Amino acid sequence: MLRFLLLSILLTIAARMFWRLLEGAIEGYTGRSRSARSSDVPARGVQMVRDPVCGTFVVPARAVSLVDGRSHVYFCSDRCRDAYRARTA
Ligand SMILES: [Zn+2]
Repeated sequence: MLRFLLLSILLTIAARMFWRLLEGAIEGYTGRSRSARSSDVPARGVQMVRDPVCGTFVVPARAVSLVDGRSHVYFCSDRCRDAYRARTA
């Protein structure tokens, strides 16, 4: 009886280890589950630009932009863009 108990405990531990190994192998093999999850969150590598009017950092793709000479200037809102335009005009 004791032998059976020990054996079952051992089997449980072995099975648990096996599953952990299998899970790791699947995750490593597909490699997609992690990247898919991280794409929901704004990418860490996105360059933030500063709104020269109010100082807020904005993501260029979502910001209001204005071409000033040869460079793009980004703003958090139309109000800031207008203020900048009025200032530079
Ligand atoms: Zn602003």
